[in-house]
Amino acid sequence: MAFHLQDTVTLNNGVKMPRFGLGVYKVQEGEEVIHAVKSAIRAGYRSIDTAALYNNEEGVGQAVREAMTENGLTRDQLFITSKVWNSEQGYEKTLQAFETSLNKLGLDYIDLFLVHWPVKGKYKDTWRALEKIYEEGKVRAIGVSNFQIHHLEDLLGEAKIVPAVNQVELHPLLSQKELLNYATGKGIYLEAWAPLGQGRVLDDETLKAIGSKYGKTPAQVILRWDLQVGIITIPKSVNEQRIIENADIFNFELSAEEIAQIDGLNKNQRFGPDPDTFDF
Ligand code: NDP
Repeated sequence: MAFHLQDTVTLNNGVKMPRFGLGVYKVQEGEEVIHAVKSAIRAGYRSIDTAALYNNEEGVGQAVREAMTENGLTRDQLFITSKVWNSEQGYEKTLQAFETSLNKLGLDYIDLFLVHWPVKGKYKDTWRALEKIYEEGKVRAIGVSNFQIHHLEDLLGEAKIVPAVNQVELHPLLSQKELLNYATGKGIYLEAWAPLGQGRVLDDETLKAIGSKYGKTPAQVILRWDLQVGIITIPKSVNEQRIIENADIFNFELSAEEIAQIDGLNKNQRFGPDPDTFDF
């Protein structure tokens, strides 16, 4: 399995999405996010994951425009994701929230727009709004985030369009195998948020031992595992050296045994909220 940093998956509507990208949750608007995004694109990243909640869409947009000029890239070579926040869910509010994200980013279109959390009683109306935005050509693909199997079942019962992506918490302590199998069967790609467990799984001895065989860090082992098990991944860093480190995973390959060892670390342990009990 020889991957490259700019390799893509083909989503269920034919759109190609990079397997690897930069997450910018908790990255400060302004200088910090501009620096992180430009460092990533310079290092070869082609996908950036933001959200209205992160309050840094303007900086992401500015960085994308500057990076295109500086690196001789065209808009179609980059893939930008954003998400509608929970307080903006429902049909009309979502239509407005999308326009706000688009304006803040200063882009003509967004590549992927997601329902950030399955807000009870609202996510189906939110989805109808995303379908409309998609049909109008303002977004290249639409998807969901933090949806469990039962949320997907419920949505698919009424949706005209099958979500292209489900972005969920996923790392070695929460490998989400059941959801992965279900989503794959429906043509929905899983995308890992907190792939590094927000930095809290990097002391694991198994990951260290595997990494030491290849001269790789635990972070690199996890991100390589994501790719080999077929998951899109978006590690966050604001540190240029770690941005480069995280993407330096294309010159080694985990064996089937090592993949199984990492799979075996699963404890169904979340660091973030449970999609069935969150209340925001
Ligand atoms: P990650 O698992 O990506 O971990 C990020 C943390 O790990 C930061 O503290 C970072 O610090 C540190 N780190 C990064 N690389 C390394 C490395 N090589 N070695 C040691 N430490 C490292 O957590 P996130 O929560 O940020 O998840 C990734 C992205 O997923 C988010 O940025 C966001 O885009 C998305 N997300 C989506 C959610 C959703 O509900 N849909 C929820 C949460 C996240 P530093 O920056 O200092 O390098």
